[in-house]
Amino acid sequence: MSGPRPTVSWNIVGGCNYRCTYCVQKHMPGIGGPTDEQLEAALTTLTALPGSWEFKISGGEPFLLKRLPEVAKRLATAGHKVSLLTNLSAPLRVLSTFIEAAGEQLRTFSCSLHREEVEEAVFLEKAQAVQEMLARWPRATFVVNSVVVPGQVSAVSTSRERFEEAGIKFYPQLMRVDGKPAEYGWMDRWRIDRAFGDMVSPSQMNRGYPLKGYLCHAGSKYFIIHPKGDAFSCYPGKRFGEGHLGNVFDGTLKLWDAPAPCRYEVCPCTVPQNRGIIEGFGQGAEEDAQ
Ligand code: SF4
Ligand code: SF4
Repeated sequence: MSGPRPTVSWNIVGGCNYRCTYCVQKHMPGIGGPTDEQLEAALTTLTALPGSWEFKISGGEPFLLKRLPEVAKRLATAGHKVSLLTNLSAPLRVLSTFIEAAGEQLRTFSCSLHREEVEEAVFLEKAQAVQEMLARWPRATFVVNSVVVPGQVSAVSTSRERFEEAGIKFYPQLMRVDGKPAEYGWMDRWRIDRAFGDMVSPSQMNRGYPLKGYLCHAGSKYFIIHPKGDAFSCYPGKRFGEGHLGNVFDGTLKLWDAPAPCRYEVCPCTVPQNRGIIEGFGQGAEEDAQ
């Protein structure tokens, strides 16, 4: 497939029911989900986006938003595609309702294994049940990911073997601190190379790439939405304050008209990397672990 695939990373709620010590969201204290009015305004804007966009919904934990299945349904009915990143703590009944609401518009169903919060065996059993639910939607893919906490590379490597034996894709996630890769010692780096050296695609591992100067459609064919409704061109665009695109709660969203050369030293954005948003990079990847 060629050309950029329009995609939105929607952090639909800020809160989370987990308290992972390595959380990059820092649980966004004080930032819950949208009010009913804000959600209506956002859906009015987003369902009207021209063409077919993929909405990669995450949080926090997106299932804290009770109306999440309805959001999936409305996006799907408008012809958009729906992907998800969850910690898989929601009851199977709720997960099933979401999957059925997105239906044939469902694409990547990603879930994160957080060992600090859940027993791996319990998580694996639930993951297998979700994989079975997804079988009736052939365009949907299922991915489990897990953060590689410094000092715990071997544990993640063992998890990879266990999930792959069960027929489930498993992608490690390098830890980030304040938007930058975490410091790994030489022993960890050696173990990461040994355990995950075969994972070279940006769809498999969030290594971060120096893409400064690459022509990028972030801001026109890709954007992120913060739980407060503000939209930005990409994560560095938000961090450095140059990529604000308006707000989907007050109807001020305005996308850029054309691509522009990337101005950031490192691109941490796996979603655009995997969807042809950056010209000449990552074309053809079909799903991502983020
Ligand atoms: S599940 Fe995800 S969002 Fe929630 S605390 Fe853990 S890392 Fe943060
Ligand atoms: S950081 Fe990545 S997504 Fe953002 S402009 Fe650069 S290449 Fe594009």
